[in-house]
Amino acid sequence: MTSTTTAMETLVIKTENKFRTLITKQTYKKGEVICPMPSENIMDKPNRYTVQIGRTRHTHVGKLAALNHSCDPNVFLDTEHMLMVAARDIEKGEELFFFYPSTEWEMDAPFICLCGSANCINVVAGARFLPLSTLERHYLNPHIREEMIKLLNNTKQHLKKLK
Ligand SMILES: [Zn+2]
Repeated sequence: MTSTTTAMETLVIKTENKFRTLITKQTYKKGEVICPMPSENIMDKPNRYTVQIGRTRHTHVGKLAALNHSCDPNVFLDTEHMLMVAARDIEKGEELFFFYPSTEWEMDAPFICLCGSANCINVVAGARFLPLSTLERHYLNPHIREEMIKLLNNTKQHLKKLK
């Protein structure tokens, strides 16, 4: 048995009224690697089941597709090293969540968030629709940083033209 298999076996998908959740059977310390991110097939366009891993790369992530969004997440996806990491200490039996705009620039299927966190962004549509002050509070992958910088530079150029 490989360690990858062991890591994945501690994650359980629960389905209730077609709504899927990903639960851990194990505790984790903040910063601990939970498992590698599976990458099944890479596409150039997002859909509601994909995770963005590069500027024009989107992938299916196997079991991790059951991860729901939270504005106060307990895991993050490191798309550079293809790992799922604990964002804080996690108890056995907790549902795992990540902050979708930390990987998604512009989502195919935006939705309204009802996570109830004090920092809830309400509309989850991708990083491009969020202010920097919100994004700064979260783990951001390199492709999201690159897009942010590009957007800021474009804005600067527009402002110059107005002068
Ligand atoms: Zn929220």
